[in-house]
Amino acid sequence: MKLLYFLITLLLSSNILLAQQLVEQSKVLLLMGSRFEVTAVAENEVEAWQAINAGIAEITRIEQLISSWDSHSQTSAINRQAGIKAVKVDRELFDLIFRAKKIGALSNGAFDISYASMDRIWKFDGSMKAMPSVEKIAKAKSKINWQNILLDSEQQTVFLKEKGMRIGFGAMGKGYAANRAKAIMQTMNGIQGGLVNAGGDLIAWGKSKQEKGWSIKIADPKDRDKMLGYLQLQNQAIVTSGDYEKFVTFEGQRYAHIIDPRTGYPTTGIKSVSIICPDAELSDALATAVFVMGQRAGLALINEINGVEGLIVTDKNEVRTSSNLKLNYY
Ligand code: ADP
Ligand code: MG
Repeated sequence: MKLLYFLITLLLSSNILLAQQLVEQSKVLLLMGSRFEVTAVAENEVEAWQAINAGIAEITRIEQLISSWDSHSQTSAINRQAGIKAVKVDRELFDLIFRAKKIGALSNGAFDISYASMDRIWKFDGSMKAMPSVEKIAKAKSKINWQNILLDSEQQTVFLKEKGMRIGFGAMGKGYAANRAKAIMQTMNGIQGGLVNAGGDLIAWGKSKQEKGWSIKIADPKDRDKMLGYLQLQNQAIVTSGDYEKFVTFEGQRYAHIIDPRTGYPTTGIKSVSIICPDAELSDALATAVFVMGQRAGLALINEINGVEGLIVTDKNEVRTSSNLKLNYY
């Protein structure tokens, strides 16, 4: 009898323990043209799924606001009115463009959302069969200049000063969406932690089911099944820009989808850039900026900014890291 009683209490207490154990749920889906994975760690499955769905709804909302492919988006309205008139937009989009201009300034124009005049010329979806002509490139390049994106804070308007100008958020939109999904998910009932992976741009926070927290591998660009090392993320984002997903090849030369606004041609010299900092949007934008700036100037910029670390793989497979990066090798 005593033994039975003992066993029952043991069972009950282990049940209580189980109840306190966290559950982790994930959903993988296509959003913003990329593979997203939204993960929530919660006290129970219902709460986890509520948070995941709220995160996905937020990403979908942002996509509709910033997409330059969707003709109904405010971004498309801005582009249509280039050189014609200022367009009134939501404060959210206004602020996003404001921050984009700041990174334009910080990177000396290496990062520039008005690179998008080039979207008409360089296509990385397989539809481009020959190098664009020098004249076409020069003409499109002449439209790139973040300083010609005019913001009027009082009217809350955006005006692209010249006809033919265009903006696009390919280099920061996924990071912004990841930040926002995290922010919404964090406010939901019972959520203890989570991870939003926006096509390789990811942000992790709070508790994870893994004992050590969120451990993120950095793939080796030489062999994507291998890893260069891993990072323990604690309330941080890591974003990687690489040349191995979107690129075209002409006469043996590989052209990646990041355009150098100074030349109008895709960048060369770097295979991948990973940026680690608490903010996914900043990581995303800086990864692209460093790609364009090149390893020397890029690393100098990363080392200058507090709380930002980075890792660069050059086209000769050399790995360069910022001064305080804590990469684990085993
Ligand atoms: P990924 O989309 O692979 O994560 P990035 O974050 O580096 O890579 O974004 C690359 C995208 O950013 C390009 O596909 C293009 O839409 C846009 N882009 C290209 N060059 C620039 C640039 N110099 N500044 C800002 N955006 C750029
Ligand atoms: Mg980017």
